[in-house]
Amino acid sequence: MLRPMPGTLPLRQYDLVIADIDGCLVSETTAPFDLESLATVRRYNELALERGDRPIVTLCSGRPQPFAESICRLIGNTTMPCVCEMGVWTYHPGTNRYEMDPAITPSHLRAVGELSAWAASEFGGIGVTQQPGKNASVTLWHPDTRRLREEIFPAVEKRIRESGWPFRVSMTWYYINCDLAHVSKGSGIDRLLKMTGLSRARLAGIGDTTGDKCIAERVAFFACPSNAQAGIKEHAHYIASKPEAEGVVEILERLIG
Ligand SMILES: [Mg+2]
Repeated sequence: MLRPMPGTLPLRQYDLVIADIDGCLVSETTAPFDLESLATVRRYNELALERGDRPIVTLCSGRPQPFAESICRLIGNTTMPCVCEMGVWTYHPGTNRYEMDPAITPSHLRAVGELSAWAASEFGGIGVTQQPGKNASVTLWHPDTRRLREEIFPAVEKRIRESGWPFRVSMTWYYINCDLAHVSKGSGIDRLLKMTGLSRARLAGIGDTTGDKCIAERVAFFACPSNAQAGIKEHAHYIASKPEAEGVVEILERLIG
């Protein structure tokens, strides 16, 4: 990491941008990647390393580790750890090191298996699927988002409460996320900060849903693309005029020293 010489002004105000993936760098739908904007982010990361005049962009996402690893490669983050699966994993693209949160025990993993099996038998028949690639969380999807939100979400919440399973249930635009209650994007970022030695003053963040409040609380500057939920825009210092990856590029341009 570049450090200013003693007595000189820092080259950049922030060392790291912690960005959500879905709804920010990529669409939460299955739309193709906005390669033009992502190439701009990649060039930005290359210049961050070459010139030290701007922060490095890394990720904090609910997506499984393989998806986050791919996005790291796409945006040229080769040096900073990222947070995947809502804090379950940190992944360091520099050393290729994966680390599951050590606070996740075998009994937590058993509860994940029980919840997954229950959801499959209860909702599999009506077309609810589980996002593949998750190790310590369960993510449910259904083509009818209204049904997912109004019918399935309350049933999942009720079953978790009655079973005493240790999960927090939340809704993104199109998914129900069941995450271990003590693991979050926030606990993932805390582990990332321990690994990098960075403090809040040196961090910026980008997010689009209320789940990204965990990012907003841990950074000195937080911004949203224009498509973000109203509930997270309240926490932003800046809201881009453009949505998703175009909005991210607009935000990143403001952070150049
Ligand atoms: Mg998102």
